[in-house]
Amino acid sequence: MLPPWPTWLSPFSKDRLTLPSQCLACRAWPSADVLCAACQQRFFHPVFRCIGCAMALPGLSPERPRCGTCLQKPAIWQHAHAWMDYSYPCNTLIARWKFAQQPALAAHFARWMRQDPQVINLLETADVLIPIPLSPQRMRERGYNPAAQLARHLSPEQYLPHCLQRTRHTPAQSGLTRAQRLRNLRHAFAVADAQRHRITDRHVLLIDDVMTTGATFTAASRCLLQAGARQIDVLCMARTP
Ligand SMILES: [Zn+2]
Ligand SMILES: [Zn+2]
Repeated sequence: MLPPWPTWLSPFSKDRLTLPSQCLACRAWPSADVLCAACQQRFFHPVFRCIGCAMALPGLSPERPRCGTCLQKPAIWQHAHAWMDYSYPCNTLIARWKFAQQPALAAHFARWMRQDPQVINLLETADVLIPIPLSPQRMRERGYNPAAQLARHLSPEQYLPHCLQRTRHTPAQSGLTRAQRLRNLRHAFAVADAQRHRITDRHVLLIDDVMTTGATFTAASRCLLQAGARQIDVLCMARTP
């Protein structure tokens, strides 16, 4: 009798054609996962981050959960977290996912993120997961919304698509300061009227792929709170250090 197929070679796996057999970081071959076991061991170390800005800073702990900046100027949300810093290998993985059209990577990222106790804590306390939406124009350009994919794979039961919407296309944010980004995003989000009851008095976990200044999360949180959400937490895959 033939030995069983490895799951990543299974003809029934929808990820079969997009799963590489080479580690995306160190190029080791063959690798049974997108990152080889050695890279996972080297890079996957959940750290406690400031619950205001999601930065990994020295001296933070569950007893002292906010950095000095966030103590002085609290965020609009209760709890922010990032799985990793936006540096190697996370930036390489995200580039593959977003710009090399490999949407199937989202399932692997969500699986790894769920190994972080702080991610599990955020998922368990939230009522619904809402992704940061793309404008229709950006959606047409890219074909899929990475944040929505991540939210769906993190928790399909809590995933609430189409509730938060972009009301207009905003220019690319890179290179702008936080204040410029906030101005850029003014009135950029709205809650769909037909979905409003689904966030009224609910605890929302907002999901995005990358957090840079927090301006996008701030604008989206403001919109959801004005629409009646009780509490907002935010979770991203990577935080710009
Ligand atoms: Zn590797
Ligand atoms: Zn902070």
